Amino acid sequence: MEIVVQKYGGTSVADAQRVQAVAKRAIAAKEQGYGVVIVVSAQGDTTDELIQRALQITDEPPLRELDMLLTTGEQMSSALLAMAINAAGTEAISLTGVQAGIRTDSLHTKAKIKSIDTTRVKSELAAGKIVIVAGFQGVDEQGDYTTLGRGGSDTTAVALAAALQAKMCEIYTDVDGVYTADPRVVTSARKLAEISYGEMLEMARLGAGVLQPRAVECAAFERVPLVVRSSFNNNSGTWVKEENQLERERVVVGVAHDLDIAKVTLRGVPDRPGVVARIFTALADAGINVDMIVQTPQERETCDMLFSIDLADLPRTRGIITVVGEELGIDGILYDDQVAKVSIVGAGMVTNPGVAATMFRTLAEAGINILAISTSEIKVSCLVPRTRALEAVRAIHSEFQLDSDA
Ligand code: ASP
Ligand code: MG
Repeated sequence: MEIVVQKYGGTSVADAQRVQAVAKRAIAAKEQGYGVVIVVSAQGDTTDELIQRALQITDEPPLRELDMLLTTGEQMSSALLAMAINAAGTEAISLTGVQAGIRTDSLHTKAKIKSIDTTRVKSELAAGKIVIVAGFQGVDEQGDYTTLGRGGSDTTAVALAAALQAKMCEIYTDVDGVYTADPRVVTSARKLAEISYGEMLEMARLGAGVLQPRAVECAAFERVPLVVRSSFNNNSGTWVKEENQLERERVVVGVAHDLDIAKVTLRGVPDRPGVVARIFTALADAGINVDMIVQTPQERETCDMLFSIDLADLPRTRGIITVVGEELGIDGILYDDQVAKVSIVGAGMVTNPGVAATMFRTLAEAGINILAISTSEIKVSCLVPRTRALEAVRAIHSEFQLDSDA
């Protein structure tokens, strides 16, 4: 029996009606002869609401307890969907992450899946049931519940698809697929029929919220065919798959942006071996992801550094850098919580000179100052003032002729 995994995001299961619509789609897949595994997110804004409830109690909830709380969101939606499918006359069973055999490490709120024991899921499928798995959650070695980071249901779905050797993993959401830019920002953005794993990974990492980056990483590694489509219509969606020659010829496939970035500047950092390692090890140990890092050339005994982080990590970063800065004798520390990152992505960049220059020129013509730059083979990112970020996205989108009327 061929298996399909379908994942439904929060808006797709937001209320009773939506849950019933999802039930129909799941049953339709079963009637086509597939073994159907459904992964659900929490309904609507449930996860945000649960976080708010925790924050009403304390500013710093223990992360283990936060995970206990957050896992209830997906448990609720999976049970409701199982009821809806059963009510429509098809057998279904909901499983928590634990019941579905999803084992993770112990990094609460950002756990990674270590293995999946598919025995239970397979036996329920063999019994003819549609299996609904609560997304975004697992269990660690101690038996404690963990969550996989925001958007983690995508990763649950892809990892299950890989473990079950599913024919494909369908990610159902409230947009028609992956766009050349966020359509709420760029009204002329186009839906892509396909995008390579590498490009999708960059788009996701750089702020295209449609897929969790971990999920794309996992799909690429396991070669899981992935399609992103809407649960509100029958449009074809965007296929995420292996790169082909055609895609290489598209220089830039999309513009991504992330408004929630902070920048930290360190002045007068002692320039000797071990100092940089000390700073970034301290941040890494706290699970803080550092993105761009710029180090100026040494002047006398010191240099200056700049790095960017997620805005949400700024309070903890401050705490760590204050301690490490004192220990290392760093002269001055500046925090800027008013920045954003704008990026272009495309596998064809590597063979086409001048792509970065075009981006910089576009920003210059708009009078937008670039605060930092980072590049890879398939992306160029610029840190810009947050107030100018959306304007930057639109200008760059049009300069690279990504607009639908271009
Ligand atoms: N409910 C979780 C979140 O809002 C996980 C997910 O939706 O994928 O981040
Ligand atoms: Mg999501």
